[in-house]
Amino acid sequence: MGLFSREKTIFVDSDILVIGGGMGGCGATYESRYWGRDLKIVCVEKANIERSGAVAQGLYAINCYMGMQWDENKPEDHVRYARNDLMGLVREDLGYDIARHVDSTVHKFEEWGLPMMKDPKTGRYLREGKWQIMIHGESYKPIVAEAARKAATEIYNRIMVTHLLMDAKRPKRVAGAVGFNVRTGDFYVFRAKAVIVAAGGASHIFRPRAVGEGMGRTWYAPWSSASAYALPILAGAKMTQMENRIVLARFKDGYGPVGAYFLHLKTYTQNAYGEEYESKWQDHTRQLVGDYVDHHPVPTCLRNHAFLEEVKAGRGPIRMVTKEAFQDPHKETVGWENFLGMTIGQAVVWASQNIDPKEINPELTTSEPYVMGSHATCSGAWASGPEDCAPADYQWGYNRMMTVDGLFGAGDTIGGSAHKFSSGSFTEGRIAAKAAVKYVNDMGNDQPQVSETEYENLKNAIYKPLENYKIGRNEIVGGTVSPSYLLPLHGLQRLEKIMDEYVGGISAHYTTNEPMLTRGIELLTMLKEDLAYLGAEDLHQLQRAWELQHRVLASECVTQHTLFRKETRWPGYYYRADHPKLDDKDWHCFTLSRYDRESGKWEMEKAPVHHIID
Ligand SMILES: Cc1cc2nc3c(=O)[nH]c(=O)nc-3n(C[C@H](O)[C@H](O)[C@H](O)COP(=O)(O)OP(=O)(O)OC[C@H]3O[C@@H](n4cnc5c(N)ncnc54)[C@H](O)[C@@H]3O)c2cc1C
Repeated sequence: MGLFSREKTIFVDSDILVIGGGMGGCGATYESRYWGRDLKIVCVEKANIERSGAVAQGLYAINCYMGMQWDENKPEDHVRYARNDLMGLVREDLGYDIARHVDSTVHKFEEWGLPMMKDPKTGRYLREGKWQIMIHGESYKPIVAEAARKAATEIYNRIMVTHLLMDAKRPKRVAGAVGFNVRTGDFYVFRAKAVIVAAGGASHIFRPRAVGEGMGRTWYAPWSSASAYALPILAGAKMTQMENRIVLARFKDGYGPVGAYFLHLKTYTQNAYGEEYESKWQDHTRQLVGDYVDHHPVPTCLRNHAFLEEVKAGRGPIRMVTKEAFQDPHKETVGWENFLGMTIGQAVVWASQNIDPKEINPELTTSEPYVMGSHATCSGAWASGPEDCAPADYQWGYNRMMTVDGLFGAGDTIGGSAHKFSSGSFTEGRIAAKAAVKYVNDMGNDQPQVSETEYENLKNAIYKPLENYKIGRNEIVGGTVSPSYLLPLHGLQRLEKIMDEYVGGISAHYTTNEPMLTRGIELLTMLKEDLAYLGAEDLHQLQRAWELQHRVLASECVTQHTLFRKETRWPGYYYRADHPKLDDKDWHCFTLSRYDRESGKWEMEKAPVHHIID
């Protein structure tokens, strides 16, 4: 027992435990109740589901809607679109499964009160692009959260889940999770028959462009701290495509989105000298990736690639031409409202830098890399597919179950299926929940057992940073530097530096190679050793300490995958300088990893990409 282990232990039993109450988690909670009328459904969230997750501030568009009621698109079209954008590599079964159900999710959102913009002439949802529809999204998350709240037996806010629990009888089956209340410090043991992880993606694993007092200013939510990956990795689940990090071209410094600008306002980009530049790089890009560059739409990574090459050639900054569109008062209003609804910071940055987009074309930049499985990239856990359309290689039980029995996932957690966005993540939560209810019902009395030794050991480990701090705090050698402990912020900065310099971050122009990655892994291993000495002065810092633990493990996984894939599949996201070209002969495949927490070793393998849509 540790010196400071006076925290209360609270036990919570459930049939289905949902970890993370964002879009995927709210979808899972809602649907669990639909199929499991008498089941005990518990959702646990480290913030408050009312405003948690990546959509916390609101959105201006729902990015995944087929419009099947008006024959606008078919699910097959969306699979083709995502496959093209990901340079050929997607789990088509998973993508198809979401696309065929996503419209019904959006119709529910409208029924629940989400204000949708309508085309005054047709009465249809107002399209921003082929897949996007426009909403007044400030109330999006509270509306979705209300549905989850009404469906759940209990919602636990302010509890950070740190580890999954495994069945004492069958080590490859999940049995629940543990975590602590970030306000009271109480220790929670959640015992569950099935667990659905929907804990968002990972920001702040690579050094961000804004550092110091600006370090929270990233495109991706700074509170998305890789739990969605670390929890399954530690439980021995296979992960896929973790090298497929995302880099976004966004308005500089505020990271305001460009989608509505390109699609709705019809603005366009040019270099510092007012020239169109994308077409200039087409031949050069074709030599790297073949005819992918001629596809329509041009894959997102290749558009980034042209941007990066133009800047490297000394013709930056790249600017968005807003001056023309903003002469139209309607477009000007839409341009500003777009930010006020979801990225208020961009409007503030422009005001503070004397940028009026009617007078000045604002600069764009490329972000540091993030890891997420629901946006334009597809990192995440390797999951079983739908019974009716997944090829045999992709099916080993229940839909969206990982390679650990009883462990399901949704949204950013699940790999191989990009372009789900908010509506697709909610839909995937619903799909996972339906399968989890079936799993629980099929299990009958064969319930998992939680071992007291396991959760007591975890309790000691979880609160250790508080103990480290209390013991070591008088040995400070200067400012916050102590010989006895490492503060979470210092650990985070060390992680970001390693990832930035060795694994293809901004300072390395997103470029790496085998020697760099090998050294990166050595440095990450040393960092992992030092995490035993994390010091936390209060519960807030304890949360930071565990967020760091999750980020480090996910980063190690990203590095192992990047080392394994010996090609540059997505120029513009990252470059393997020692394998600069796309190599369809050897690498038209998924990369899979499995971590062994006893030995600390990673096993890597390839899995085939099956094309089920022509
Ligand atoms: C900047 C940005 C802009 C976007 N714009 C759009 C858009 O315009 N349209 C659109 O449709 N989609 C958009 N998306 C995508 C959309 O937000 C995501 O696809 C969606 O939120 C993913 O759902 P999720 O449930 O996987 O993650 P999230 O919604 O992020 O939810 C994860 C939840 O898990 C919780 N959590 C994390 N760790 C733990 C832990 N250890 N213990 C307990 N709880 C935990 C978090 O607090 C959070 O509530 C955008 C995303 C970003 C980042």
